[in-house]
Amino acid sequence: MSSQIEKIYVLWMSTGLGCDGCSIAVTGATNPSVEDLLAARLPGVPPVVLVHPVLAVEAGESLIEYYRKAEKGELDPFVLVLEGSVPDETIAARTGGWWAAFGFDRATGKPITTTEWLKRLAPKAAAIIAIGSCATWGGIPGAKNNPTGAMGLIDLLGKDFKSKLGLPIINVPGCPPQGDNFTRTVALAVLYILGLGPAPELDELGRPVFAYGKTNREGCPRAGFAEEGQFAESFGDEKCLLSLGCWGPIVKCNVNRIGWINGVGGVTNMGGPCIGCTMPGFPDAFSPFYTPQTTHHRISQLMDVTFGSFKKRLREGAIKSLSDKSPRWK
Ligand code: SF4
Repeated sequence: MSSQIEKIYVLWMSTGLGCDGCSIAVTGATNPSVEDLLAARLPGVPPVVLVHPVLAVEAGESLIEYYRKAEKGELDPFVLVLEGSVPDETIAARTGGWWAAFGFDRATGKPITTTEWLKRLAPKAAAIIAIGSCATWGGIPGAKNNPTGAMGLIDLLGKDFKSKLGLPIINVPGCPPQGDNFTRTVALAVLYILGLGPAPELDELGRPVFAYGKTNREGCPRAGFAEEGQFAESFGDEKCLLSLGCWGPIVKCNVNRIGWINGVGGVTNMGGPCIGCTMPGFPDAFSPFYTPQTTHHRISQLMDVTFGSFKKRLREGAIKSLSDKSPRWK
């Protein structure tokens, strides 16, 4: 597409099954911030017009009008964002109802379901971003025994679905995700849409590699303790949290490296064991939280305790001998 585009619409649908926590997380983004995107502060990136049901000045029909225009091709190019999981409307339809809807059909007067909007808008979007573990994998609304058949966007549209510009669905998981991971993804998608950058690099599950290419432990400030077999005995202890059920060694996430807001915070940085909220299968596959009861925990801890304590003893010896040889202040 041409770099003469003057603005890019980001149409956010928060009417999946979710809690709006992802929206809140994105308002805390700083690198870039939402304001950076809106005010076109990134070189080469035109202003982003964010249409968000919670943040918009408009309400009711004047808000829905944006989505109607996008469906008619009058807002090209636009990025479609889904927050919240996709319910199985065939279940609700059995009793004549619906699970999630947004606006009314002018001809019939009936609610337009979120699922219907997604089917209408996704093929016309230049890029499609599923934000949060609800929209990517089903998340909490998709947990065991849920009545709605909640699923991720990729389950609705299919794993081979491509946007109008040939991009696969971009998944930015987390419950909620770190805000910068979303705003950076939007910036990358916009640069691609403008023809100014390559397609965002994604892994096999559609996750941006810059954010989800490494595990939480690889960026964890406590990883050194783990390596030497030193584990926390209770909350508040500064050592490795594997013993308190931390899933960091196998969870793809960068929050320990980049912090939560403006470099500050992040799960294990602040003493919380990682509960796997970015991962497919969350929450069921990672429950009960804070309980080191899986094979993964036992094997990791056994290896760290066995080899780690040996390494620790070697290092203590090295520290002693090296510091003995260091010059002293006179
Ligand atoms: Fe809320 Fe988590 Fe779902 Fe985001 S992913 S909408 S924070 S429950």
